Amino acid sequence: MSEADPRLPWGAPPLAETRTNAQRKRKYRATDPAEAYVQCRCARPDCWTRGLLPLREHIAALFRAIASLGYYERFPQYERCDDPWPGVIYGLQMAASLDDLFADPSYVTGDEAGFWCDAAWQREEEDRELASKYAAALITFNFAWNAYEAAIEISAEGMFPKDKIPVRARRLFQAEQGEAAKIQAFEVSFRVARHICSHQCSLKNEIDSIGEKYGLSGAGAAAELVRIFRNYIVHGNDPLPAHDDWPCFRFYAITRVMLLLTQYLVLRKVPNPEYSVFIYAMQEDHGSAPADLYMRNLHYSRSVWPLNGYQAELALGEETARTT
Ligand SMILES: [Zn+2]
Repeated sequence: MSEADPRLPWGAPPLAETRTNAQRKRKYRATDPAEAYVQCRCARPDCWTRGLLPLREHIAALFRAIASLGYYERFPQYERCDDPWPGVIYGLQMAASLDDLFADPSYVTGDEAGFWCDAAWQREEEDRELASKYAAALITFNFAWNAYEAAIEISAEGMFPKDKIPVRARRLFQAEQGEAAKIQAFEVSFRVARHICSHQCSLKNEIDSIGEKYGLSGAGAAAELVRIFRNYIVHGNDPLPAHDDWPCFRFYAITRVMLLLTQYLVLRKVPNPEYSVFIYAMQEDHGSAPADLYMRNLHYSRSVWPLNGYQAELALGEETARTT
C-alpha cells in the first residue's frame, strides 16, 4: 500500500494512484482519430473509401513497398545492403510506430480542483483526452513530414536547386501533375484535406489563394497545401482543441496527402516501373505486382486494386487465395 498524499483528506487515495487509476480506465487511444477522419456516408460500391487502408496501415504499406523495391535493387542509387531512401523510411517507421500516448494539460496549472470535485475532474479528463489525441496527431504528422521532405531531397535531386525544399516539391508536382494524379484517389484525398483545413479561419484565406497565386491545380496545389499547413503548425499558430477531436483530422488528412505525394516521388525514380516486384521483401509467397501498380495503390486493400492491363502478370498471393 503506498503512502497517502498529505494534501488529500485522510483515507483518500494518493494523488499518483488516482491518476494511474484514471489512466487505466481510459476508453480511448490517442491515435483513434486517425481511423475516424475518413468515413463513408454514401455506401456506394464505387466509393473511394472502399478498401482504403487506415492511415497507420497506409504508412506501414508505404514503408514495406520502399523496403521491397530496395531489397530487389529497383533503385539504381541503392544496393541491397543499403537502407533505401533512408530519411524516408526512418520517418515512416516512426510515424507508424505511435500506438498511444497520454498528455495532461492541467499539469502546468497545478490546480487540484479535479481531486475535490467530480465535475472539474470530468472536465479535466475531457481536456486530457483532447490533448492526448492532439499530441498523437501532431507527432504522426511531424514524422510523415520528415519522410516527405527527405523524399523530395532524394527525388528532386538537381531540380530547382535555388528553392527551399517544399517549394521544389511544388514546382516538381506542378510540372508532373498528370503522372502524379494517377496515384489512386489522389484528387479526392486532396479535396478532403483542403476542405478540412479550410475550417480553420486563419488557414482559409491562404488556402483559397492557392489557385490564384501560382495558377496551381492538382498535385502542385496539393504540395502547396501541405507546405502552407506545415508552416502554420511550425510557427505555433494552432491552438489546442477545446471541444472535440475534429482539429486532429486536419493533421491526418494532410498526412494522407503527403504519403500519396511521397509515393509518387519514390515511383518516379523506379526505372521500368512496369516490371513486377514482390510485395514483401524476402517473403515471396505473398505475391508480386508491377512496381507502378504497387506504388499507385498500396494504400488500398489488394482486393480492390485496378487490374486493367495487368491481369496476366499479377499474382496477389495469399490475399487472393483468401477471397476466392
Ligand atoms: Zn462513400
